[in-house]
Amino acid sequence: MSTYDFDLFVIGVGSGGVRAARMSAANGIKVATAEDRYLGGTCVNVGCVPKKLMVYASHFREEYHHAQGFGWDAAAPDFHWAKLIENKNTEIKRLNGVYKGLLDNAGVTHFDGRARIVDAHHVSINDQVVSTESILIATGGWPVVPEFPGSEHVITSNEAFFLDDLPKRTLVVGGGYIAVEFAGIFAGMGADSHLSYRGPLFLRNFDQDVRQIVAEELAKKDVNLHFNSVVERIEKNADGSFSVHFKSGETMQTDLVMYATGRKPAVDDIGLENVQVACRDNGAIIVDDEFRTSESNIFALGDVIDRVQLTPVAIKEAMAFVQTQYLDQPTKMDYEAIATAVFCQPNIGTVGLTEEQARDQYNEIDVYISTFRAMKHTLSGSGEKSMMKIIVDRKTDVVVGVHMIGAEAGEIIQGIGIAIKAGATKAVFDATVGIHPTTAEEFVTMRDPRVVAAGE
Ligand code: FAD
Ligand code: NDP
Repeated sequence: MSTYDFDLFVIGVGSGGVRAARMSAANGIKVATAEDRYLGGTCVNVGCVPKKLMVYASHFREEYHHAQGFGWDAAAPDFHWAKLIENKNTEIKRLNGVYKGLLDNAGVTHFDGRARIVDAHHVSINDQVVSTESILIATGGWPVVPEFPGSEHVITSNEAFFLDDLPKRTLVVGGGYIAVEFAGIFAGMGADSHLSYRGPLFLRNFDQDVRQIVAEELAKKDVNLHFNSVVERIEKNADGSFSVHFKSGETMQTDLVMYATGRKPAVDDIGLENVQVACRDNGAIIVDDEFRTSESNIFALGDVIDRVQLTPVAIKEAMAFVQTQYLDQPTKMDYEAIATAVFCQPNIGTVGLTEEQARDQYNEIDVYISTFRAMKHTLSGSGEKSMMKIIVDRKTDVVVGVHMIGAEAGEIIQGIGIAIKAGATKAVFDATVGIHPTTAEEFVTMRDPRVVAAGE
């Protein structure tokens, strides 16, 4: 019989924390949670969910135009930002309640407030101190904004979800998931949208063809892309707008500057100084295969360990943690071939290796690539291009990477991800009968590898 108040104290009720808390509690473990901001964490409140709702919202503008090619005489679209934010907030409030219900139904004791580790077996929440056999740190991450003159004028994605109005002119700085998604959201809703990225081409670590084609497609959708572009300083003007000065000497006038320059592990003020938990230079908590930190009864998972910052990864890590620690089913998290999507317009869906990574890992590869205009756009009038790409290890015929740009690429790549996890060969793709007429059928009909010139 444990002498502690709880068997497990989970700090942070986000994607990873909720899953770990409710799965362990459902299996008879005495669990407590603490959350100081919002139930459901980043994903539900200022991440995946509101972002996807805003992506849907921003998409309607071009859908109105597309409809005309199909005979619909749509009235000029009239968008009300405040209505969208109100409806989005209502939905998120509902989800906050759902998360509370999940914890309650599993028998978790929940504390509203900031948790701090007092020592390896004690946690304080507000003025209360409780004892616990184990602690799980699932505190997530927080946006990073570099310091420079005027950096106090910028917002991050956290604030973008709660703006009172849609700014007429927007500048998003960064070249990762959030920057690309938000530049598209703002453009879709009708803002004069600009994206500034410090390197020659955004989405570093994505497949080179994907990066290039996405840049072309975003430009077609009125996202103004500025590459090799570095902000030097920002001044606030008397009318509330901003003058952004770039290192190149150029200046831009805008109504909003949003920085999407990465996120850092949320380890400030959680009491790590009171225990022997080792962190990397950026604050990421170091854990072993079981998510155990260097303090043997303290565990950590999700964005705070900074392995892969995705909700389904935090959830899977939590499942592996519970199975290993409480269900007598030792489970290692498998980080291979994680399918992911960037919800820009059109979407990117990707799983496995990029062509560049595959060339490094395998002696010989075959690359199948197809770029085309989706059937819908024969009448919609849109010049949007779709792209599909399959990368195959020539020796084994195993498909090692699949990439797509196009409508609902995230939905499509989820299914392809299963095939990749199952070790599907190109012959299996070829033996699969397509569904006609779809965009996705292209994945089972590509027959001729791309010819690569000698020396390339
Ligand atoms: P979080 O969900 O961040 O939860 C941590 C929780 O801990 C927070 O609620 C925080 O308030 C709480 N907390 C922190 N410190 C304390 C403390 N001391 N006491 C009490 N509570 C504390 N991922 C996807 O897979 N798909 C997407 O489309 C996607 N879109 C995103 C869009 C944006 C704008 C952002 C920012 C992220 C997005 N992500 C997406 C990433 C995803 O949100 C994160 O990977 C995921 O939320 C990580 O889960 P977590 O449990 O590690 O942390
Ligand atoms: P990312 O790490 O994806 O991208 C950060 C971007 O900011 C990079 O382009 C980076 O450039 C640039 N950058 C970093 N530091 C600076 C600096 N000092 N000055 C200028 N530019 C800089 O972070 P995000 O903030 O976009 O997103 C965080 C994570 O959240 C993502 O990595 C992803 O895991 C998750 N997420 C997932 C989504 C999804 O699944 N659809 C959507 C949104 C977020 P460089 O490449 O040159 O280093």
